[in-house]
Amino acid sequence: MHVNTTTTKMDNSLSLRNFPTVIAGPCSIESPDQLHSIVKALSVDNRIKMIRCGVWKPRTRPGGFEGLGEPALQWIEKEKLRNPSLSFCCEVGRPEHVELCLSHNIDAVWLGARTTVNPFLVGEIAEALSGSNLNVMVKNPITPDVDLWIGAIERLIHKGISNPVAVHRGFSTFNNLGYRNNPLWEIPIELKRRMPELQLICDPSHIGGRRDLIAPVSQMALDLNFDGLMIECHPNPDNALTDSLQQITPNQLFNILNLLTIRHQGDGSLGDLQRLRDNLDVIDADILKLLSQRMMLSMEIGKLKKQHNLTTYQPQRWREVLQKQISEGAKLGLDPNFVKELTEKIHAESLRVQE
Ligand code: PEP
Ligand code: MN
Repeated sequence: MHVNTTTTKMDNSLSLRNFPTVIAGPCSIESPDQLHSIVKALSVDNRIKMIRCGVWKPRTRPGGFEGLGEPALQWIEKEKLRNPSLSFCCEVGRPEHVELCLSHNIDAVWLGARTTVNPFLVGEIAEALSGSNLNVMVKNPITPDVDLWIGAIERLIHKGISNPVAVHRGFSTFNNLGYRNNPLWEIPIELKRRMPELQLICDPSHIGGRRDLIAPVSQMALDLNFDGLMIECHPNPDNALTDSLQQITPNQLFNILNLLTIRHQGDGSLGDLQRLRDNLDVIDADILKLLSQRMMLSMEIGKLKKQHNLTTYQPQRWREVLQKQISEGAKLGLDPNFVKELTEKIHAESLRVQE
């Protein structure tokens, strides 16, 4: 993301673990009054650097509120004049949206999850952004595919867009574990491992899909060294035209921000931490040895099944194994969802080696 404006933005001071960048605002702009009311309420808190406000809404099903388009960009321009210390961002889903944002002095845009997933569209949007100094954020694709996310970021960089920012909004998975979009934290962690310079923002609103999950998901993100948060905020969330279950009032947002704990990475010198980590390393090595032994046994079982013309997958046996692991895990204090996922992964690998 290009950080060359006099206002706000995701500048590099974030890495000093100051208060994280906070982007807040309505899922969608619904009227000039709604926009004015939310901007006015949010502008009193200088932790909020940027207003997010949807102008074009990609809806899963047809018939819903799809955003107000260009008139809403004019209302944003008015709010910008009233609030010069705030910047404003909205989602773009087509090259024409980029042109309109440029002609209305929008500060930043984001590619939504349904756009990031499409390399052709990302390419066209990158082309439209090329040569502008719009700041750009890239939400993760809907599917849990880190390469597709990186690919979209690279397509922007190749068109000369400097410092795109990644936004983690969770993924659609087989089991979303009670979230609207499964956070699968290992994916943003892998993104950051492969692109260490990239700034990473968490969108707890679209991950949780519920007000009560915003605080814990935000804290988790900060504890994973995310640089900022994008949180949906509405003057009257219950009546919001989109995403009403997850939007919060400005006061609720301020309370959540007040309760966040900002931690730092440390330098690895904490003695107790080292001792505990040494123990973890021993356990990790044991887990790998046990998994390897388990796969050897699976291979033998696979041979036996083939000799006797039995199918590799035995549904009754699998039901029993899964049930047993979940209940034994619970006795040991392990989360049932975690045990289920782990057992499914082990089972899938076991079926693979038996083949
Ligand atoms: C949004 O931010 O309102 C939105 C539609 O996001 P996503 O692309 O994450 O679904
Ligand atoms: Mn939304």
